[in-house]
Amino acid sequence: MIPALDLPACAATAWQATPDMALRALIAAGLTALAGWAGARRRFPGQRAFVALTLVMAAWTACSLIEHAAVAADCKGTVALLSWTVIMAQPPLYALFLYQYLHSEMHGGVWRTRWLLALPSAVLVALALANGWHGLFYGHGTRLSEPMFGLPRLRYDYEPLFYAAVTLGYAWLLAATVMVVRAWRDAQGLQRRQWTVFLLMMAVPLGANFAYIAFGVRLMGVDPTSTAFAFTLAGFAWLIRRNRLFAAVPLARRLLFEELPDPVLVLDAEGRIAEVNHAAQRLVPPPLLDQPLAQWPRFGPALARHVGAADTVIELAGPAAWFEVQHRVLGTPAQPLGALILMHDVSARHQAHAETVRTLAARELELDKATALQALLREQAMHDPLTGLLNRRALLERYGHETREAGVRLALVVLDLDHFKRINDTHGHPAGDAVLRDFAAALRSGLRAGDALFRLGGEEFALLLPGASAAQAAARVEGLRTIVGRWHLGQLGEAVTFSAGVAVGGEGPLESLLAAADEALYLAKRNGRNRTEVSTREAQTQ
Ligand code: GH3
Ligand code: MG
Ligand code: MG
Repeated sequence: MIPALDLPACAATAWQATPDMALRALIAAGLTALAGWAGARRRFPGQRAFVALTLVMAAWTACSLIEHAAVAADCKGTVALLSWTVIMAQPPLYALFLYQYLHSEMHGGVWRTRWLLALPSAVLVALALANGWHGLFYGHGTRLSEPMFGLPRLRYDYEPLFYAAVTLGYAWLLAATVMVVRAWRDAQGLQRRQWTVFLLMMAVPLGANFAYIAFGVRLMGVDPTSTAFAFTLAGFAWLIRRNRLFAAVPLARRLLFEELPDPVLVLDAEGRIAEVNHAAQRLVPPPLLDQPLAQWPRFGPALARHVGAADTVIELAGPAAWFEVQHRVLGTPAQPLGALILMHDVSARHQAHAETVRTLAARELELDKATALQALLREQAMHDPLTGLLNRRALLERYGHETREAGVRLALVVLDLDHFKRINDTHGHPAGDAVLRDFAAALRSGLRAGDALFRLGGEEFALLLPGASAAQAAARVEGLRTIVGRWHLGQLGEAVTFSAGVAVGGEGPLESLLAAADEALYLAKRNGRNRTEVSTREAQTQ
């Protein structure tokens, strides 16, 4: 007979109790309960696929129970054909569950566009249901054979479509196995052990099916595959329940991806945006899935330029923003599956840095100004504004420098204009100032390298002659007297003279040398002015 869909045959058939009935009913009930339990659990990846898979397995078990319990061969054939609806649904659901569990996928996003993969299975189901017309699934040779446990059973004559269906189912199972083997290979530590157990459990129904097809091994007279699958599903459930970590690690990774404050984009091998996290979606404008990266306004062109390059910072225009970009190839460089782009907004840091640079530059400018001002103040503090000569403070410094640091002896001359008060009184204070300025200029014109001239105050000046003896100093002063005599100081038309006191020293403080020179000057005044006297005091040598 050629098995064909014949529901009235099932309505008419007698039913018989079979030895495996209780076991199968128990398995079907257990699987249904498992589906309820899995559906009620907190969400785990692949949950919906797992529930569907468990229900499909329960239906498969129920079908084989009904097929065995029916006495009429036509009804058995009808149920066998109907079974293919669930048998063909099982391997894709199995692969879907494992895929989603492996990839911690909650929403089945990838499958939205890949449902076409289930099309061959659907076609084969339709062909199985239509077997009555073509007999290419189960053929003419299908017949009731010798009873098992005293019950009649149908021996099927397998035709090419049956083998096609089995092959397709195996292809799905193989794909699922490869997926888990790869996950096992890439996993570490505890996760790897979990995947090992997963693989072992997956081997059970494969082994059972292989034993059935290759060696005709049966469980209580029927194909043991569905029972073995039920066992595996129970094992999966036990693993999912027991090893919370198993689900927790992929979930944590998923959560990390979703909740990461930094935008993350996943690109496929063609450079299209395959997935983005919440942070990326919050960018304006948000990246659009399935679009080439470069077409993402504002961000895309800058990012696309850096795909494959080293980690870098990209600058975005209007409003200005800076993102640190990390780029990682997914898969191997030889066989890239896509790329991961991690963006980190460093605008605040960048702006703060720029601000710091600006502030530093401003500070430096201020510092330069302050330094210049300080130099000016120092210059002013060391100079006499009327004559432009160095002042008493500068003399003190210069004296210290010459004597302490250079260690030289020197001659100090104090010069004082004669009867200057009279000039002031006669020609006025401004004329007196002019005389002072000219006197300073006249003296300066007669200086030699190393000499230093100071205005001590009023009409009193000082001349430092490093290395000069008293006699040399006195001679130099006479030379200056000649020069000054040639000047018409203050354009007064009258001769202005000066007196000078010379002292030689360097070991003691400036004050004692000045006192000695002053003493000599006083002597010069007393001796008639317009002359130079040399201090005879030895005090200056201390
Ligand atoms: P002697 O020959 O004894 O030194 O007599 P003198 O008049 O030069 O000395 P005295 O100390 O009596 O007078 C100094 C005068 O110098 C008194 C003061 O008014 C004047 N004088 C001091 N500083 C300045 C100044 O910067 N400009 C002008 N024009 N006069 C000044
Ligand atoms: Mg004086
Ligand atoms: Mg004077």
